[in-house]
Amino acid sequence: MKNRYQDKEAKALIARYRRQGVAADMALRIYTSRLLGAEKSLVIHGGGNTSMKTKVTDASGMEFDALCVKSSGHNLDALEPDDMTVLDLSLLSGLKKLKSLPDQDMIKALSRAKMDPVQPNPSVETLLHAFLPDAFIDHTHANAVLALTNQPNGKQLCEEVFGDRAVVVPYAMSGLALAKKAVAAQHCHPNIHGIVLMCHGLFTFGKTAKESYTRMIRLVSQAEKRLKGKGKKVFAASATPKKLLPVAHVAPMVRGALSRGGSWILDFRTSDSIRQFVGGKDLARYAQAGPVTPDHVIRIKPKPLILPPPKVGGGNFQKELLKEAARFSARYRAYFEKHNRRHGGDKTMRDPTPRVVLVPGLGLFGVGETTRIAAIAADMAATNIDVITAAEGIGTFKSAGEKNMFDIEYWALEAAKLGAAKVPPLAGRVAVITGGGSGIGAATAKAFADQGAAVVVMDLDGKAAIDVAASVGGFGLGCDVTDAQQIERAFDAIAEIYGGVDVVVSNAGAAWQGEIGSVDKAVLRKSFELNFWAHQTVAQNAVRVMKTQGVGGCLLFNTSKQAVNPGADFGPYGLPKAATLFLMRQYAVDHGKDGIRSNAVNADRIRSGLLTNGMIASRSQARGLTAENYMEGNLLGEEVLAEDVAKAFVDLALSLKTTGAVMTVDGGNIAAALR
Ligand code: ZN
Repeated sequence: MKNRYQDKEAKALIARYRRQGVAADMALRIYTSRLLGAEKSLVIHGGGNTSMKTKVTDASGMEFDALCVKSSGHNLDALEPDDMTVLDLSLLSGLKKLKSLPDQDMIKALSRAKMDPVQPNPSVETLLHAFLPDAFIDHTHANAVLALTNQPNGKQLCEEVFGDRAVVVPYAMSGLALAKKAVAAQHCHPNIHGIVLMCHGLFTFGKTAKESYTRMIRLVSQAEKRLKGKGKKVFAASATPKKLLPVAHVAPMVRGALSRGGSWILDFRTSDSIRQFVGGKDLARYAQAGPVTPDHVIRIKPKPLILPPPKVGGGNFQKELLKEAARFSARYRAYFEKHNRRHGGDKTMRDPTPRVVLVPGLGLFGVGETTRIAAIAADMAATNIDVITAAEGIGTFKSAGEKNMFDIEYWALEAAKLGAAKVPPLAGRVAVITGGGSGIGAATAKAFADQGAAVVVMDLDGKAAIDVAASVGGFGLGCDVTDAQQIERAFDAIAEIYGGVDVVVSNAGAAWQGEIGSVDKAVLRKSFELNFWAHQTVAQNAVRVMKTQGVGGCLLFNTSKQAVNPGADFGPYGLPKAATLFLMRQYAVDHGKDGIRSNAVNADRIRSGLLTNGMIASRSQARGLTAENYMEGNLLGEEVLAEDVAKAFVDLALSLKTTGAVMTVDGGNIAAALR
């Protein structure tokens, strides 16, 4: 592993932080913490922690010995001085003499030691940082070290590899007992550079940030050297059928099977090493042995769901999948009940849905309530695969075991890292918006994202789609909705990226004008292509994916006032829109049995690419009105905004018992009221 410490960079950061009133030792603490965080084979997603002992002065001018330790759950790669919780070191040191310290008492002791009560809670490994005497301490879950510790003979292996540079401490939960064990080990071996925690990770320490960091890199490099060249062709392959269903077909099946108990976003990953892992003959053994380090268990559960290979023809993959998903949840319940009894039955079961799904021949899916949580699960699954592959390359992978995993999964201090679960109403849902690059479409993308949906923005203007998607944390896709092949490919891409589709807002449209008695047939045909046929092709593809998922869905069409109340010379626009209104009802009739709802929004006079400021000026002039009076010419006397239309789409998506309906958003226009 490369030592990335550069004096020039370190000095620049010291200078930058000095201007903000941050001391040099803290600047260096932040610098090396970020170096550790940037190395994904050391820590990912809130894993690992660092600390520094220093002196601080309180408001009265009194000086204290302080421990600054990373706040719980923060990411090392983006650490800032404010993310280091400052604690009164003498109060923490006083805990050393205790024989035991129950969780609630530890939480109280840590709270009391905080110099600033509004700072977040410190790392769960704070006591270890406090008790070890060195000024700087680094802790990671280095892949290479875990590949050595997670073995039946892990202790012996580590002793061979690290010699007198590190001492090995048996697995224990973070807290007083582990901290005391570590201190005792260091006391007996005062010249060591680090402490290896079995099935958990590595601590290093030093007088300076640079020394502690350098020792971390050196010890991890020693572990990497021991593993070098051992991770190739580790797994004997099982017999995988040659012809497999593509990811775009498998993903909605998986998503549908899991979504019987909630709504989930999938994050698919694959690579040669992932496929070798999931294709191994002994997959059930090594993949279900448990996460490689305890803090992964809160994100990916003790075990993944393992599926059969998705064979083309012959076997019934979807049926098997449903059976395996149900079996997984039943086993999770049994695991919970067994270990909860040991705890006196005081725990509440967490959701039994798998967070990682392994598919031989294809790869893996991370599962989560949001795209971010699904990505974290997928990242952790990939890290677990790296470590287990390395471990199996030199021996047999073994984790801390089911009992210890349960104790971490249901430990209040670990669960706190996940934050309070306030679930927005469309969390786990995938919403696709066509014509999402501007106007009503862009406002709708934002409205769905605000309600927690994973949003796909489609637009003829690919850049506009990507820009809007980026602004709402979604996925942007350039797509001509009048091209059936492009739409099919787009829906396949969406299935690969998020796992499937729940809501489609078929919004793309454009206005053509012409007196109906003389209009060119080509104009009418062109308008029908976009304002009718595109809606039909988008809806057909959405229904294809929704039926594969088997958990219903929601189609939403942007029709127009023209569909019910024709305006002069607007036939080329109104005719296909009227057909689309009928189309919406036909979908409601034909696919209600599939749980697919179909509704429309009838909006009028919205400033957009379709009704531009220039058009508003000419239309208002023709009627002898100001532009404002024209736009506010409705019963409420208020201009209708794109955001008002977006809200109607969201409301219809949330109205679970409404289908075949039209919601009018025009500020009130009796001439256009549905009858
Ligand atoms: Zn740790």
